[in-house]
Amino acid sequence: MTQSKHFDAIVIGGGPAGMTAGIYLSRARLSTLIVSDGVLGGQMVLTHEIANYPGVESISGYQLSNIMKKQAKNFGCVIKGNTSVVSLDLEGEVKQVALSDGNVYTANVVILTPGGRSRTLNVEGEAQFKGQGISYCATCDGDFFTDREIVVVGGGNSALEEAVSLTKYASKVTIVHQFDHFQAFEHAVEEAKAHPKIHFRMESSITRFYGNEKLESVDIKNLSTHEVENFKTDGVFIFIGYVPNTEFLKGKLEMNQWNEIKVNSDMLTSIPGVFAAGDSIVKRYRQVTTAVGDATVAALAASNFIHQLKTNQLHETLAS
Ligand SMILES: Cc1cc2nc3c(=O)[nH]c(=O)nc-3n(C[C@H](O)[C@H](O)[C@H](O)COP(=O)(O)OP(=O)(O)OC[C@H]3O[C@@H](n4cnc5c(N)ncnc54)[C@H](O)[C@@H]3O)c2cc1C
Repeated sequence: MTQSKHFDAIVIGGGPAGMTAGIYLSRARLSTLIVSDGVLGGQMVLTHEIANYPGVESISGYQLSNIMKKQAKNFGCVIKGNTSVVSLDLEGEVKQVALSDGNVYTANVVILTPGGRSRTLNVEGEAQFKGQGISYCATCDGDFFTDREIVVVGGGNSALEEAVSLTKYASKVTIVHQFDHFQAFEHAVEEAKAHPKIHFRMESSITRFYGNEKLESVDIKNLSTHEVENFKTDGVFIFIGYVPNTEFLKGKLEMNQWNEIKVNSDMLTSIPGVFAAGDSIVKRYRQVTTAVGDATVAALAASNFIHQLKTNQLHETLAS
């Protein structure tokens, strides 16, 4: 049977941004529902070690996620994992969110924190060998490539950091990158360049994957000479950016050409009462700390919005 319940706020997405919003809102004694279509923790749970979260020297993404979830629950936040949004109406004073559990929830405020996902190369054989030699997560699959020779695709922070972390397992890591320079922090570039197990194929890209049951080789094309070399490899890790999980928001609010949600400095979207935070918004640096930071702003601004709304409603009641 369909249930309908009203919350002060509904948070869509259960990564670090969503859980931070949940912690702040429920601690402000606002009834809050977090809905997440995957496991709680989002991309954070793909990270074997988070060493740059201030105040915590080193922690796994899974552990940090569990702590955030516990904090949110302790303050009274209701959390629904593995539940997706079927439809949502963000217009008007009362927002409506229908979920895959068959229930419909309403709220005065919605905070959108759907994060993003790995971008794929989209070349022949990629879909076939995904999970059979091709991976997008070093933490999940690195161990399978112990003493093997692997390739890492990409030239940003994720690619370089994960290439270094993969040297714990692999005997050789070849980084394939389309440009002649990296788009990463200098310390990440230096660490990768100094590592004896890491080799580079710059101005190159993978154009095809080959194998039988498992991946056996790739074609690497040199983008300046156009030469193609068949390169034997046991595994390929692809870290070439991300796609925001905002498909379900198309046409509902303002986004940029990459489907990132536009927000102001209060994390307010183009719709009153609808805020957004984390990797899905227009921003340059995507980290747990930045997700947590802008979710804090979104939750505080949302609390203030609800307070104003309730004060106005009280005044209207008293005046009538
Ligand atoms: C391999 C890897 C390593 C990383 N290492 C680090 C690191 O060491 N330090 C660091 O600070 N950052 C690191 N990051 C980045 C960090 O994980 C992200 O910046 C951060 O998780 C973003 O948080 P978020 O809450 O915005 O989104 P996400 O973590 O992506 O969480 C979004 C959540 O929303 C859910 N969702 C999406 N759409 C819907 C929907 N329609 N309905 C309901 N739920 C939905 C998703 O399932 C997901 O659970 C790493 C990322 C990766 C991929």
